Amino acid sequence: MNDQIKKLLAAFSKRKIPCSYVKNRGEAAKWVLSHIQPHSTVGIGGSETINELKIELLLKEKGCTVYWHWHAKNPEEAAVIRHKAMNADTYLCSSNAISEDGRLVNIDGTGNRVASMVFGPKKVLVVAGINKIAENLDAALQRVKDVACPLNARRLGLNTPCAKTGKCHDCNSPHRICNVTTIIEGKPSGVDMHVLIVGENMGF
Ligand code: SF4
Repeated sequence: MNDQIKKLLAAFSKRKIPCSYVKNRGEAAKWVLSHIQPHSTVGIGGSETINELKIELLLKEKGCTVYWHWHAKNPEEAAVIRHKAMNADTYLCSSNAISEDGRLVNIDGTGNRVASMVFGPKKVLVVAGINKIAENLDAALQRVKDVACPLNARRLGLNTPCAKTGKCHDCNSPHRICNVTTIIEGKPSGVDMHVLIVGENMGF
């Protein structure tokens, strides 16, 4: 564990947000599985990081019911799944950026993910690769606009200016994916939140 990670763990501790570190995605998947009860419900936010964990099948083998709107057949079904995920026993997601002083910065087009991170599920597990760490809050806010948004817009095939140029243009596109920005600065009082830092690049 390097000094940046040590500093980050100490910063989360000060904010009363439990935070752990594992070396790679394989260890991360095991860690996540060990923190989810068998036969419980699990909601998953839109997250390439969680996708890379390849954990959905493992959760189902544990008897868990998984709500993940990425597998919905149509927008109506996706809306229903998003609501079920918001009331799951555990919510699994990543963060778009994490400042070295322990703030979680997130953007969302619909709002379900950023809402579920702070209210609804009993437990929230936030899994983030080291590529999400930013030097400070300003750098984290810049990361969400100039890195997370363009890459996610491209992944989704959306016609936003950032998808074309790799930079935010504060657009009014109907495809805008950053309608809501949240900054979590302390553990939400009704949520058992835990952050897991993974020592490799994951997601966007
Ligand atoms: S405001 Fe528009 S251009 Fe800027 S990051 Fe969001 S979607 Fe991209």
